[in-house]
Amino acid sequence: MTRVLAPNPSPLTLEGTNTFVVAEPGAGTAVVIDPGPADQGHAQAVVRACGGRGVELLLLTHTHVDHAEGARAFADRVGAPLAALAPGWATPGAPDLAAGDPVAAAGLELWPLPTPGHAADHCCFELATERAVFTGDHVLGRGTTVVEWPSGDMADYLASLELLLRLHPERLYPGHGPLVTDAVARVEGYLAHRRDREAQVLAALAAGDRTPAEIVARVYAEVDPSLHPAAELSVRAHLAKLVHEGRVHTDPEGGRFTPA
Ligand SMILES: [Zn+2]
Repeated sequence: MTRVLAPNPSPLTLEGTNTFVVAEPGAGTAVVIDPGPADQGHAQAVVRACGGRGVELLLLTHTHVDHAEGARAFADRVGAPLAALAPGWATPGAPDLAAGDPVAAAGLELWPLPTPGHAADHCCFELATERAVFTGDHVLGRGTTVVEWPSGDMADYLASLELLLRLHPERLYPGHGPLVTDAVARVEGYLAHRRDREAQVLAALAAGDRTPAEIVARVYAEVDPSLHPAAELSVRAHLAKLVHEGRVHTDPEGGRFTPA
């Protein structure tokens, strides 16, 4: 497994997107996971990381631009099919990631794990022989991920974290940040973080906050203000879950929230 860091650092992408080149030692081909942004230099670096192997298959964890913008051009460049859960993204010859079967390529078996939450069409890939999971933006190498309302779904996200936990992985290969070697503790930490945030959102409502912006100002007071718009989408995802569960009421416009 080789990690190629894309040159797209930002507060949300950390050092940039991790593109992974995966192959069994001795295999004549490689699998590329998340080709990343449309960037010629990055595409060349990924080809170099293949070390003379042809690319047999491209896999997408999800279709946000920092993971997928360069995917179609890269697939054309290397002449390999592109597989993704998102409708309309898979190219002819690509395996169906929703079929429940492992994907066999480059001498490996990778198990697609549909993991909605960060995005509805998010998919992790388990390399069971190594107890490793390529996690995309489901779990990052540092910090926490954004569950963006309305495309992200907090209830789905928590269920997808529980799914990952049940695999008892040893290592996580995230879409951003360093590799994770304490995988179970990290996923448990993510679940605890979301439970804490939900409790904070309920406490903010109990204290009189009524709008997502008011809740963000209270709950994310210690976070860089440049991240507050993203935080507001996460708060809205928490609120949508709580409304769905009947624990919070909202007005018909969905702009104000009150405890149930
Ligand atoms: Zn990302």
